[in-house]
Amino acid sequence: MTTLLKNGRLLDPRQNRDEIGSLLIEDNQIVEIGSDLEIDDADEVYDCTGYWIVPGLVDPQVHLREPGEEHKETIATGTQAAAAGGFTTICCMPNTKPPLDNAALIDFLMDKSASPGSGGVFVAPVGALTVGMKGEKLTDLYALKNAGIVAASDEGFPLQNAKLMQQAMEFCFQLDLPIMAHCEDSSLAAGGSLNEGGMSSLLGLRGIPRTAEEIAVMRNCLLSLNTGCRVHIMRVSTWGAVEIIRLMKSLGAPITCEISPMHFTFTEEAIGEFDTRFKITPPLRTQADIEILLQALADGTIDCIASDHSPHASYEVDVPFEEAPFGAATLEAIVGVTLTKLYHANVLTPIQTIDKLSSTPAKILGLEAGTLEPMELPIAQVAVIDPTFEWSFDRRRTSSKSKNTPFHGMRFKGKNMLTFFGSEIYRDADFPSEARYKSAMYA
Ligand SMILES: [Zn+2]
Repeated sequence: MTTLLKNGRLLDPRQNRDEIGSLLIEDNQIVEIGSDLEIDDADEVYDCTGYWIVPGLVDPQVHLREPGEEHKETIATGTQAAAAGGFTTICCMPNTKPPLDNAALIDFLMDKSASPGSGGVFVAPVGALTVGMKGEKLTDLYALKNAGIVAASDEGFPLQNAKLMQQAMEFCFQLDLPIMAHCEDSSLAAGGSLNEGGMSSLLGLRGIPRTAEEIAVMRNCLLSLNTGCRVHIMRVSTWGAVEIIRLMKSLGAPITCEISPMHFTFTEEAIGEFDTRFKITPPLRTQADIEILLQALADGTIDCIASDHSPHASYEVDVPFEEAPFGAATLEAIVGVTLTKLYHANVLTPIQTIDKLSSTPAKILGLEAGTLEPMELPIAQVAVIDPTFEWSFDRRRTSSKSKNTPFHGMRFKGKNMLTFFGSEIYRDADFPSEARYKSAMYA
């Protein structure tokens, strides 16, 4: 079985490749790529004229909710949503019920995500840093690493005890395992549900000050600098956090960081009259923050983009603002929102855009993904994006089980059209049927 992706714009940040050309997949592997590819025939041909042919996207932060909260999402629906969004590798966070704090649960997750019924996506598990994510006792990180975790994190329950975090970093340094850190000082953030500022005063709700994030970013960067442990700072949201990260990188701390599309798209005003779809952690901030976040994306201080896909059932978010859970279902909107807000707004070039959505997150987490180089990965991982397709995001047309998304109704320019994961293919309903055909010698 051969599949030819023909005449697209080949973008591979890892090879610094940006040229019009074609790519040939044979069985499960990319076998040839280039502008001078002298192949016209294949079992199946996709005319990619005007499209980008890019490495399958890589998401450092997704919540799959299984085991324990299958009413929000399952491994099957979450991976289907990922494939529809252009992703071929996703990291799943450990805050399931029970949390992913032992090797048996990691085995369960890896088996289930590779079984029929799941979308064609590789799921890389992130293990809990402390038992039960309670912040008291470190998990058996050695056993978890052997079971296949790619990073350790206590996610939305960040370790408050600096001494324990230092120990965790010392262990993880020995294991060459990165820590993914949601940075929040809970003594400052407790009880808050949105940014502390104009909106929290207006709505009469308790706010979360920016210092809650910045103090924790500073602490984790200092511990990283002193232990040598790689720390990946999750979803940066304030200009102060960016400046701290910039400084600590210049001092040599082995840190990286990500941003969620919510944080470069919306300000706290989006909450309007208590709209729980905009209840995000860390909270949506201000336009001044967005300006600095965009600069930091362009200059490389912010390394990559994470969906932080956080599905919740409708009845769970249809409650008073203070009681609603944090987070939003976002996997299928990422390409649209990122191209609209970053590429078409001239913040990032095409190759930088794909770098932040694929090659760099793969590198940070040591994942076999993020390149179009022939025979380089265990199986082909490719996405085909139409960068100019205009559409409205409609939550009723998503694969995710949950519909709690702030992007519903938004106009986007740019859409994922095809996702190839080995021999598994996701094809978007908007991909033109005449652009897919059998070549003459196979017809
Ligand atoms: Zn998250």
